[in-house]
Amino acid sequence: MNIARRRFDCLVIGAGGGGLRAALQLAQAEAHVAVVSKVFPTRSHTVAAQGGMNAALGNVLPDNWLWHMYDTVKGGDYLGDQDAIEYMCQAAPRLVIELEHYGVPFTRLPSGRIYQRKFGGQSQNFGGEQAARTCAAADRTGHAILHALYQQNIRARTHFFDEYFAVDLLRDQDGYVLGALVLEIETGELLIIEARTTLIATGGAGRIYRTGTNALINTGDGMAMALRTGIPLEDMEFIQFHPTGIAGFGMLITEGARGEGGYLVNADGERFMERYAPHAKDLASRDVVSRAIAIELREGRGCGPRKDHVLLKLDHLPADIIKNRLPGIRETAMRFAHVDPVEKPIPVSPSLHYMMGGIPTNRFGQVVVPEHHGPEEPVPGLYAAGECACVSIHGANRLGGNSLLDIVVFGRAAGEHMVQYLSENPYHRPLDAESVDRVMQRLARWDRKGEGESVDALGDELRRTMEEYCGVFRTQEVLDEGVHKIVAIGQRLSDVRLKDHSRVFNTARIEALELENLVDVATATVVSAAARTESRGAHSREDYPQRDDLKWLRHSLFYRAGRRMDYKPVRMKPLTVDSFPPKQRVY
Ligand SMILES: Cc1cc2nc3c(=O)[nH]c(=O)nc-3n(C[C@H](O)[C@H](O)[C@H](O)COP(=O)(O)OP(=O)(O)OC[C@H]3O[C@@H](n4cnc5c(N)ncnc54)[C@H](O)[C@@H]3O)c2cc1C
Repeated sequence: MNIARRRFDCLVIGAGGGGLRAALQLAQAEAHVAVVSKVFPTRSHTVAAQGGMNAALGNVLPDNWLWHMYDTVKGGDYLGDQDAIEYMCQAAPRLVIELEHYGVPFTRLPSGRIYQRKFGGQSQNFGGEQAARTCAAADRTGHAILHALYQQNIRARTHFFDEYFAVDLLRDQDGYVLGALVLEIETGELLIIEARTTLIATGGAGRIYRTGTNALINTGDGMAMALRTGIPLEDMEFIQFHPTGIAGFGMLITEGARGEGGYLVNADGERFMERYAPHAKDLASRDVVSRAIAIELREGRGCGPRKDHVLLKLDHLPADIIKNRLPGIRETAMRFAHVDPVEKPIPVSPSLHYMMGGIPTNRFGQVVVPEHHGPEEPVPGLYAAGECACVSIHGANRLGGNSLLDIVVFGRAAGEHMVQYLSENPYHRPLDAESVDRVMQRLARWDRKGEGESVDALGDELRRTMEEYCGVFRTQEVLDEGVHKIVAIGQRLSDVRLKDHSRVFNTARIEALELENLVDVATATVVSAAARTESRGAHSREDYPQRDDLKWLRHSLFYRAGRRMDYKPVRMKPLTVDSFPPKQRVY
């Protein structure tokens, strides 16, 4: 088959904040860079980020990047790699200022400095008083950042392939990644994009769950692409449930709402977080607050006829705080929950939000894989950044405001390292027919329409299964059954029926490819969760309620072939400062 080809120095798959920050670095270094995105770039999920981005600027309360580092290590329940966390927290203030210069309209203090709000898990002085570290553009911070980065890329002449779907990576016999096969969504035409270096920046896979804060496009395509080329996924058992999704719908009500002074109450009107986290209360880290809500609901103190939610109270705050600093969430609450938070509390419950795990990388964005139980080796030509990557800075639980920071810091770092890679690898390696054939064979499977159940029905079953068998609280029995069910869903995939009469065949094919990716990512998640017999961060095992540092202070690695698990040590040693050794984690 004759497939059209284009050649670039670099290919960036994904146009969210991570991909765009990397592309900008590359384009500014005069590299010829292509960005592929399955949606128009400014529709990427980064656009939905509300609350803000952390940096120890100290504009509102005293702050220090070392305190930020301590909070991040502790927030991640000591599973984060401390060299990467140090690098990120130290770089943060500089990169916020840089974004401001790119045109991000941050909310201001009367003094003219950037406003910073209180977010969960933030402290002064290593666990002392609450800090205020999250820089915000009202409650539309991601929107502001994504648009500014897109405009800067247009100025730097980055080449965009909008509404192109990346199918698979092209990897040769020697292990070099040489680009990707992509599909133009409108026409169904295939295109080979050859590149000396490729960055995966495809975001998270929230769609493996039913109720969540994520967009429909978050299907974990890049993670699944990595799995299919033999690369493992790291720490996939750690899934973040955000405490405050609108009950029954899942749309996010930012943690910033509690940062501005909001708090949670149960059916008795009790401010229950005081019992679970006497010091930090409603601003304890997300895993702690989500578990507390789940316990309140389980013990019958939920609100409403089904006792299935708690209430987020903001109505005691001055109306202008809500209107000026939280305009977006006020709109969301009015539209979906039919309450104006100025007057009435918002019904909320925990909602799937973020994946701590992903493609294993180091702090330069290089995808690194342990070789035969030996030291880690970079996969030549391949990088990953953003929510699809696991650096790991978030460890077992991400702090609010640290992901926008992650994508900007490590998007930039990856771009910088790719420039170096280009200078060391000045020529394109020849692309052999076999690497293309391998990808084409998989795609060919979807050229028929299938006779079995529909893509939607199977996808729905996958999402329900994950919710039921891999939720906030977990046990061995339930997880093992979950593995069994997800594997069975994977087996039914090959007969799935593509044609839904109301749809164009081509988009149905994309949905099938996405479902295949979701199955791979869900399998990685539930298998990794069944393997980890301890409770740490967001991974809560009722049968193993304690953290077990002796056995489990290590990262998990899931390989697709044979659904094999492997492990690697946590990098406890920071770059220049003393490490933060594991302590009991209380808020
Ligand atoms: C509702 C919500 C609110 C949030 N609020 C905050 C916050 O206040 N602070 C914070 O720090 N974090 C927040 N987060 C988390 C944070 O926004 C995300 O983790 C982060 O923006 C992800 O950025 P990204 O660049 O990795 O991916 P995304 O922004 O998700 O972009 C992924 C890109 O990959 C492309 N893509 C995917 N698959 C393919 C494919 N097969 N082919 C081609 N292109 C593909 C998409 O088109 C898109 O351009 C929030 C998340 C959500 C869901």
